[in-house]
Amino acid sequence: MEINMSPGTFKPHAFLIKYAEIGIKGKNRYVFEDRLVQCIKDALKAVEGEFSVYKEMGRVYVSSSGDYDYDETVEALKKVFGIAGICPLVRFKDEGFEDLKAKTIAFIGEKYGSRSFTFKVEVRRVDKKYPIRSMDAAAMIGEALLNAYPNMKVDVHHPQVMVNVEIREEINLYTEVIPGPGGMPVGSNGKAMLLLSGGIDSPVAGWMVSKRGVRIEAVYFHAPPYTSERAKQKVIDLASIVAGWAGPIRLHVVNFTELQMYIYETCPHDELTIIMRRYMMRIAQLIAAEEKCLALVTGESIGQVASQTIQSLAATNEVCEIPVFRPLIAFDKKDIVDIAQEIGTFETSIQPFEDCCTIFVAKHPVTKPNVNIIRRSESKLVKAEEMVAECMRTKEIIEI
Ligand code: ATP
Ligand code: MG
Repeated sequence: MEINMSPGTFKPHAFLIKYAEIGIKGKNRYVFEDRLVQCIKDALKAVEGEFSVYKEMGRVYVSSSGDYDYDETVEALKKVFGIAGICPLVRFKDEGFEDLKAKTIAFIGEKYGSRSFTFKVEVRRVDKKYPIRSMDAAAMIGEALLNAYPNMKVDVHHPQVMVNVEIREEINLYTEVIPGPGGMPVGSNGKAMLLLSGGIDSPVAGWMVSKRGVRIEAVYFHAPPYTSERAKQKVIDLASIVAGWAGPIRLHVVNFTELQMYIYETCPHDELTIIMRRYMMRIAQLIAAEEKCLALVTGESIGQVASQTIQSLAATNEVCEIPVFRPLIAFDKKDIVDIAQEIGTFETSIQPFEDCCTIFVAKHPVTKPNVNIIRRSESKLVKAEEMVAECMRTKEIIEI
């Protein structure tokens, strides 16, 4: 049997928003719900139509009384972290059981072009004052559907369509649960500073941390003229794509050229990458402190390149005084690429513009840096402190 959805004429006026984890936060639950409501409102600002987003007895609803673009609405909701499922809904006041049966029949008739599928009715009676018990109500609604649509069949174990009837302050009817992205609403878990390059990994890392409810800002180390304006534009484009999920991102563009040249001239070339990365971390932390970000985020993954051996990671991490989140640390490249494709950053990431590290990489970088030797090399960088201060003074902020 086939479910034929195409010719249905059903257009919902409301959506029930299901959320997963924020439901288990006990007393803080309302904080998470309020955050989710706000994130949904923000996401719908760009969609045509008037929406109201509200919570009612542990449920979040989106409704639109007027005309709105259904596809755009669903696409926008699919990018709101914290949403586990989006259920296009019929919602009405209780006007007796006969009315409920009639409305269920009408809903199924509008929703599905051909009514020849297996189904099960599930009734949840939150309003215990409702005169009919859930099991009995489900059986009677099922019978009414069978009478109305003789080609439908009940299958209580593996139904193709689950007809959900929730009897609450109002009655909710829905069959479809469109998967949301999961995670937690952005802004429910503080703020972190993402080191965003033009590569494949860091946008994915930022997206993952954002998915846990963390608001992100970003820093990009730009080295003109060694890195072009187009490389910078690529980072801006990547930040915009990530912002589609993460919300507005403040991107700090640091001019790294002078400091990088100085390191290049002063330190052994096989240590360049590590020393540069230590300075990136130092500067990122200074910006994080100014912007009240409590952690850094990078796209590092064990063993991917010389600067990401466990020894290199340890040497880079040594200068960090705040937590560094490396969500991709144990991911294979293939799995990172899969996520990059899914979230839409991959095509932009593979555009061939140099990022600053590729210009200054040594032919044979150390893979097992000794922190004492690195420190000794850095002690020769007497002008570095002043240059870092200059980086902080001259950085550009782009609101995305
Ligand atoms: P990505 O794909 O994210 O560029 P990568 O595999 O190229 O990562 P590296 O170049 O070693 O790896 O960089 C490791 C991490 O350091 C990046 O994921 C990013 O978080 C940060 N990083 C590297 N270069 C820059 C830069 N120019 N500006 C900001 N952050 C950077
Ligand atoms: Mg890179």
